Amino acid sequence: MIKIIQGDITTLAVDAIVNAANQVMLGGGGVDGAIHDAAGPELYKACLKVPEVRPGVRCPTGEARITPGFKLSAKYVIHTVGPVYRDGQHGEPEKLAACYRNSLALAAENGCKSIAIPCISTGIYGYPIEDAAKIAVREVKGFLAAKNANDAKGEGRAPSRPQMEVIFCCFSERDAAVYEQLLSCGDPVV
Ligand code: ADP
Repeated sequence: MIKIIQGDITTLAVDAIVNAANQVMLGGGGVDGAIHDAAGPELYKACLKVPEVRPGVRCPTGEARITPGFKLSAKYVIHTVGPVYRDGQHGEPEKLAACYRNSLALAAENGCKSIAIPCISTGIYGYPIEDAAKIAVREVKGFLAAKNANDAKGEGRAPSRPQMEVIFCCFSERDAAVYEQLLSCGDPVV
């Protein structure tokens, strides 16, 4: 199931919230700063423990890492690093798609039944919201469709377990309107 919420992601009582982090994963501006403030200093300590894959890089662009949510209502924070937007011709769409895919896979691996995702890359990293939202919706729909098919196969029938709930958490009214538009005119939501 897909939902759109306009508001502050740090207030949501879901299994996981996604953080639009940076590669070093030690906090920053925008939603990253808000999540670290709300989760408290334990989140910073947990991020420090995530091994660097190379100096200064705990999470390469397009990948995702998981930590507890500490003081947040969310059980987990899934940190992903979106691409910095140049012109859309430098691998940005593929990297952004990978953020969604890897975050959702990590949520599923950790048994999450609900996940809230902000508009990754569309703030400081400059990705145009219309383009980014199209990728977000495509990837989430694809993930849920594949998951449903897989769950049905495992159970030999349509899945009786509740599906994963994916919430697009938009900070601004304008961003929420972009998602509303995309979801209202697209294929039926899985
Ligand atoms: P990036 O560096 O990936 O662009 P930003 O944090 O600058 O990340 O922005 C990503 C999105 O998160 C933007 O749409 C911004 O408005 C939004 N945002 C900022 N604070 C919050 C918050 N507390 N809850 C949800 N979304 C937020």
